[in-house]
Amino acid sequence: MSDTLSTDTRGTPVLRARGLRREYGRQAGLVRAVSGVDLDVAPGETVAIMGPSGCGKSTLLHLLGGLDRPSAGEIWLAGQSLRGLGERRLARLRRDTVGFVFQAFHLMEELTAAENVELPALLAGRSPGAARRQAGELLDRVGLADRARFLPAALSGGQRQRVAVARALVGDPRVVLADEPTGNLDSEATLDVLRLFEDLHVAGQTLVIVTHDARIAATADRLVTMRDGAFTDETRLTGGTAGAGSGLGALAGLEG
Ligand code: ADP
Ligand code: MG
Repeated sequence: MSDTLSTDTRGTPVLRARGLRREYGRQAGLVRAVSGVDLDVAPGETVAIMGPSGCGKSTLLHLLGGLDRPSAGEIWLAGQSLRGLGERRLARLRRDTVGFVFQAFHLMEELTAAENVELPALLAGRSPGAARRQAGELLDRVGLADRARFLPAALSGGQRQRVAVARALVGDPRVVLADEPTGNLDSEATLDVLRLFEDLHVAGQTLVIVTHDARIAATADRLVTMRDGAFTDETRLTGGTAGAGSGLGALAGLEG
């Protein structure tokens, strides 16, 4: 495939993987963390990945986002194959196409909420003024305009994760990859973050979410079950937002 970003058209998968494998160690210590995954994620689609701890979900997400390299197989991000890309080009493609959200937030503790969002914009070459404006808009979008000047330590877990989501949206990524984004949150904060992902979904953001939370999975377009490094089951869900706009209703129904 030789598609470039500019020729990438609607309908082309935002993310594609074929024959993906990732092994750690060797011989008696060999771990097949990911063993033969194929995946296509369409523009605007939300895919939820569920599976027991240690089945390879994080490893898969890191491969898909170009944070780690596969032992075998190929990945295309926005039509661009990651195979053979040097570190610099991979880093640039990652910056321009992927937003990451992690379970542990990974905010810079010494920076304010706004600065945490400004930082990637500055690193992407935005002017300080433009970075500040964008951070303001994104914090507003995640409902934290009034917390822009707070340090992470002064924010609740749910608020921190919403800052992390705002940060992930800098650069208008083609896909947001989230690894158990509600794993460290209490149930009320979980619901806040869930609603936020639902809003992103409705707005057309492509999402891949690894989650233990059946409520997140219920709002996805597709649910993939993973075990021992491979997909064991795929279900297309009609309750997802793309179906009938009933995602929030399903959410409310599952609440409590
Ligand atoms: P999950 O996110 O589903 O809990 P992981 O992708 O973190 O699973 O891990 C999948 C498997 O790969 C596990 O057996 C884990 O111990 C192993 N693993 C993950 N990262 C490494 C690593 N850096 N070195 C060796 N083994 C690893
Ligand atoms: Mg994990």
